[in-house]
Amino acid sequence: MTATFDRCRAEHHCHARHCGTHVPPEMLMCRPHWYMVPPEIRDRVWKHYRPGQCDDMNPSEEWHKAADEAIEAVAKAERIRCVRIHGPECGCWNGPKKAAGPVQGDLFR
Ligand SMILES: [Zn+2]
Ligand SMILES: [Zn+2]
Repeated sequence: MTATFDRCRAEHHCHARHCGTHVPPEMLMCRPHWYMVPPEIRDRVWKHYRPGQCDDMNPSEEWHKAADEAIEAVAKAERIRCVRIHGPECGCWNGPKKAAGPVQGDLFR
């Protein structure tokens, strides 16, 4: 039993920027974000996904590349939507202004 294994399982969350939704390790993103990714990139992420890659922390180069593109695609889509709906001043796609309070506090209890 390794700490890395537990950490990965416990903390696996959606890879879209600023999304803290917990997802199973085999999922790159939560459902709403995943469906914002163009099908062509989604196919590539699945094609290069290897079961257990999260456990040994060693995903393939190809998977990393596809995953990066997926994350980029979501960020772009969210920015376009934000500007269209909220206006150019909003910037919510870029994350909350600044979260208050140390999130890691729980670890030390
Ligand atoms: Zn998400
Ligand atoms: Zn916005």
